[in-house]
Amino acid sequence: MAEMLPPGSTIGILGGGQLGRMLSVAASRLGLKTHIFEPAAKPPAGQVADMITTAGYDDLKALGRFAASVDVITYEFENIPTAALDHLETLRPIHPNRKALATSQDRIVEKEFLQSLGLKVAPFAQIDTLNDLQSALKTINTPCILKTRRFGYDGKGQIRIDTITEAKTAFDALNGAPAVLEGFVVFEREISVIAARNQNAEVACYDPGENLHQSGILHTTSVPAQLSMTQQTDAVILAGRILNALDYIGVMGVELFVTTSGLIVNEIAPRVHNSGHWTQNGCLIDQFEQHIRAVAGWPLGDGQRHSNVVMTNLIGDDTYSKDANIGLHLYGKSATRPGRKMGHVNVISAKT
Ligand code: AMP
Repeated sequence: MAEMLPPGSTIGILGGGQLGRMLSVAASRLGLKTHIFEPAAKPPAGQVADMITTAGYDDLKALGRFAASVDVITYEFENIPTAALDHLETLRPIHPNRKALATSQDRIVEKEFLQSLGLKVAPFAQIDTLNDLQSALKTINTPCILKTRRFGYDGKGQIRIDTITEAKTAFDALNGAPAVLEGFVVFEREISVIAARNQNAEVACYDPGENLHQSGILHTTSVPAQLSMTQQTDAVILAGRILNALDYIGVMGVELFVTTSGLIVNEIAPRVHNSGHWTQNGCLIDQFEQHIRAVAGWPLGDGQRHSNVVMTNLIGDDTYSKDANIGLHLYGKSATRPGRKMGHVNVISAKT
C-alpha cells in the first residue's frame, strides 16, 4: 500500500499557470500545501499557493531548494527541460513518472507507444527534411497536417497541407524543427477521457467529454459526449490501458477522435487537462483533487458525474456571466491577450 502524505505535507508543482493554480486550490482543501516553481514573475498559481520560487529551470540551486522544501513533485505542463528533471528526481519522487513525460513530449515516441498497445493512431511519418516530406506525401494523402514533434500546444506548430504543392511552404514554416506528418482523420466527434491512477494502481475515469475547438484552441467541452455505450466503454478501457502501461500516477488527458472505424488516439497529456475542467461542477471530486490525491498517495475520490455540464473557455476578452447558477472560474491573469485563456464557465443541467 502506498504511504499517504499527511495533511500539512507539501506538493511541489512545476509550472505556475492556471492548472497549477487549480491544483493548489484542490490541495489546500485537503489540508496540503503547495510550492510553485515557475520562471515567469507573478504567475496565476502564485496567488493561491503557499510558496513560490521564481527561477529558471536551469537554476540547479533553486531547483535543489525547491525539492528540499517539498514531499513530492508534480507538474502542470509537459515541456520541462530534461536536465531539470534529472536533478529533481535524485532528490524527490516525481509523479507522473519520466516515462510518461518522455512519451508525451515527442509525438512520434507517443504514437509508437500507442501502437505498441494495439491502439489506433492517425497514419504518420517522421519528417526531418523536405525530401522526407515529399516522399511521405506519396503515402499519406492530402489533406494532412505537418506538426512539430515537440512543444506544440493549442494548435501551435501545426500546418495543414491541402495539396502537395504546399509542401515546401509548410516545411519552411517549421524552421527546421523535427516534425511529423499526420494523415487528416475524418472524425464524427472529438472526445477526451480524463483518467486517474493512484499509487495502489487503482484506475478511475471520468465520463468522456465532447470537445469543440476554435482556431486550434479548445472552446467547449460537453458531458455527456454523444457516444454509444460501446464507444464510451472502449474509450474508458483504452485510457486505463495507457495508464497501466506507463505505471502512471496522477491524472492524464487522453484525446480521441471518434470515427466510423473506431477510436483513434490523437494525443495524451500527462497532467490535468482543459477538457476536464467540467469536473469542478459536474462531480463531487474534480480532476484537480483527483490528481493531488494520486500524487499524495491517497485513495482516489468519487468521480461520478452528477450533472450534465457544458464548459466554455473564456479566451482573450470573452465576456462572462456572473449569474448565480453558473460555475465561474477566473485565473487571476492581469494581462488579456488574444488567444490567452483567462478563465472558464461551467453551466450545469440535470443529468441524462
Ligand atoms: P493537437 O494539438 O494535435 O491536439 O491538435 C489540435 C486540434 O487539431 C485537434 O484537437 C483536432 O481538432 C485537430 N487535429 C489535429 N490533428 C488532426 C488530425 N490528424 N486529423 C484531424 N484533425 C486533427
